[in-house]
Amino acid sequence: MLSQSIEGALNEHCKQEFYAAYLYLSMAAHCDAQSLTGFAHWLELQSQEEQVHAMRFYRFILDRGGRVRLQSIPQPPTEFPSPLALFEQALAHEQEVSSMIDALYTRAGSEGDHAAQAFLQSFIQEQVEEEKTATQIVETLRMAGDNKAALLMIDRELAQRVSTALTTAPNQRFA
Ligand code: MG
Repeated sequence: MLSQSIEGALNEHCKQEFYAAYLYLSMAAHCDAQSLTGFAHWLELQSQEEQVHAMRFYRFILDRGGRVRLQSIPQPPTEFPSPLALFEQALAHEQEVSSMIDALYTRAGSEGDHAAQAFLQSFIQEQVEEEKTATQIVETLRMAGDNKAALLMIDRELAQRVSTALTTAPNQRFA
């Protein structure tokens, strides 16, 4: 059974993952409007991945006998000065999510909620990947600088991203 305090913190984090999905989708829409369709594709898949994360929190709260209380999702920014600025923002966001998950893990530990800690472990690992990927894209964009040809090459590379949302989406109700 979940404590009220952990239930509240998990509900809050569920909203944060939905906000991440919203943020990436807003970034995708912005890139699409700029004809950077590879960037848009990558960001749309990232948005889907964040929805999977949110649903994992949703499922975990319910599986533990808690109540899901969906919260308002803030409006994400809609304008981004450049692809570099956009990915710097994405990286900063992932770093923030990492520290929120760390704090949640510490809190679950202090309440002796080992099940919540075990659940959060995969997110701690996931954040290492998220920060690494965002950092790589930021660094590649910094190298490209004002070179439009290099930007288009990065756009084509990001277009290659393949969705893993279906294979990572856990629906273990009947498993
Ligand atoms: Mg996430």
